[in-house]
Amino acid sequence: KLSNRLQRIHDQIPEGSRMADIGSDHALLPVAAIRSGKASTAVAGEVNPGPYDAACKQVSDAGLQEKITVRRGDGLDVISAREVDVITIAGMGGALIASILDRGLSKLEGVQLLILQPNVGEDILRRWLLEHHWVVVAEQLLEEDGKIYEIITAMPKESSPITNEEVYRARPLKDGVQLTEDLLLRMGPYLTDRVSEVFFAKWESEINKLQGVLQSISKSDQESSRDKAAEVQELITSLQEVL
Ligand code: SAM
Repeated sequence: KLSNRLQRIHDQIPEGSRMADIGSDHALLPVAAIRSGKASTAVAGEVNPGPYDAACKQVSDAGLQEKITVRRGDGLDVISAREVDVITIAGMGGALIASILDRGLSKLEGVQLLILQPNVGEDILRRWLLEHHWVVVAEQLLEEDGKIYEIITAMPKESSPITNEEVYRARPLKDGVQLTEDLLLRMGPYLTDRVSEVFFAKWESEINKLQGVLQSISKSDQESSRDKAAEVQELITSLQEVL
């Protein structure tokens, strides 16, 4: 059975997709997607030998070698141009996901959907998507086993039902608080629209971490640290205003 996190990613895949799951590890997601019919074929990509072996074993135990090819390689190197419609990349930092997409830019041509689950650095990933004309069309926030996860689904601007200008248009939130593009990139343009308990929990914990950062840098009296402290303080204030 899939974890709730992987199940939510799975559910975003359109029926009958040709998918690639990059950093697949145990290949649980492609196996589930083939079984459910969400994927008609799948590539499971892994750069590291241990997870690669785990993926091969999972696929052969499931008897799905005809439908799922497990390939060893870095990021999108494992797929050829126009081979897949949907790419899933889950369980890594947002900066790593962005760098995988960036290094594999030519392989993204023809891809219809990216389903991404960054563990941290969501703002870096959203900014990469924005700068490369991918439009976030859905976001999800969930808590499982005490951890909070974000799932970001994006489409190329040519096929997206909404534009990036609309997604990141600054908007009023409540009594004088404005959601700026910067805040939307950090907190999620859809997640800020329907704030939930998990959203509050996530951002309270992020603010706590930032306050820890602030304390440690305010011990130093170097000018650069003072600038950094002012920047962090400003961020804390703007995040607190949203909550
Ligand atoms: N995607 C699975 C999930 O969400 O449950 C596994 C996540 S696991 C924490 C991250 C996996 O990404 C590891 O197995 C690691 O070997 C793989 N990985 C990291 N960098 C990679 C890269 N550049 N290309 C392919 N795989 C990578």
